Amino acid sequence: MEKNLTKIIDKLKSKIYFNYNIGKLTWFRTGGNARVYAIIENIHELEIILNEINSVKYCVLGSGSNLLVRDNGYDGLIIKLGKGFNKINIFEKKLEVGASILDINLSNFALRNQIQGFEFFSGIPGSIGGAVKMNAGCYGSETKDLLSHIEIYSKNFGIKKIFKNDIDLKYRLSNIKSDEIIYKVCFNINFGDKNLIKEKMEIIKNKRIASQPIKNKTSGSTFKNPKNLYAAKLIEEAGCKGLFYGDASVSNHHSNFLINNGNAKSSDLENLGKLVIDKVYKKFGIKLDWEIKIIGD
Ligand SMILES: Cc1cc2nc3c(=O)[nH]c(=O)nc-3n(C[C@H](O)[C@H](O)[C@H](O)COP(=O)(O)OP(=O)(O)OC[C@H]3O[C@@H](n4cnc5c(N)ncnc54)[C@H](O)[C@@H]3O)c2cc1C
Repeated sequence: MEKNLTKIIDKLKSKIYFNYNIGKLTWFRTGGNARVYAIIENIHELEIILNEINSVKYCVLGSGSNLLVRDNGYDGLIIKLGKGFNKINIFEKKLEVGASILDINLSNFALRNQIQGFEFFSGIPGSIGGAVKMNAGCYGSETKDLLSHIEIYSKNFGIKKIFKNDIDLKYRLSNIKSDEIIYKVCFNINFGDKNLIKEKMEIIKNKRIASQPIKNKTSGSTFKNPKNLYAAKLIEEAGCKGLFYGDASVSNHHSNFLINNGNAKSSDLENLGKLVIDKVYKKFGIKLDWEIKIIGD
């Protein structure tokens, strides 16, 4: 793969890096190197690059806010969508959004254009591609509520347009596979009162500041809420608040957040998560399910 990519590197607008520290691009700031890291600028070049990697595995990185990369890194290609996927258009009563747009930027765009329903995105620190994959949501709204369709690219099938009902969006879950790259997302839109939209965004911001350790190195909620229950409550009642493993700890602020206190390794965070799963299971007989995606070797 490296030989093939080296031959084409100078002919592309996209950037390709070998043995690149990918962990530093995640919110946890832990983890090892990707064998290859590519910042892609258009679909044509994505196709060219994927044609040169033979059978080496690949996956896509959004803004790394829900991702733990293991310490030994990722023995494959990690793709990031670059500025070429960073546009928003209002088109025939739809919002066409490049998948690398940050959720907060989409929320602000909606505010400027008096489009309602996108307020909750102001509280989620990811990209729109990651929001669809994870069906991200908060305070009673989720990505699914607004979605019309997406466009994806995969090495095996090329470009595909998929409508919402075929993505099977559930609580923090979709059927998008790890080799499918969402590059465009289309939302339905409704216009509303600018002041009300602004007020809602303000409420979300204040709730966040009050309830989450947003200044820490964290990936947000570590585990999904079991049906009709709160993972944070179970974790707290199982005695895990403040629990440590190496330099990783369970947040004192929000029990479902794991924190890298500065020098944690990914293995510390993963082992701490396993310890929490164990303790909650022993106390309640409920097995917590990771919300965070873990990749690497
Ligand atoms: C402080 C904090 C608060 C958070 N609060 C919330 C919350 O309230 N609600 C919530 O739902 N989440 C929350 N999260 C988690 C996270 O922000 C969301 O899951 C977000 O949608 C992840 O997007 P991302 O771009 O960072 O994806 P990444 O973390 O980079 O990746 C997550 C997964 O999505 C895949 N992916 C990313 N981009 C694409 C793409 N273009 N095509 C295909 N797959 C892709 C990756 O391969 C990976 O499997 C929080 C995180 C933090 C750090």
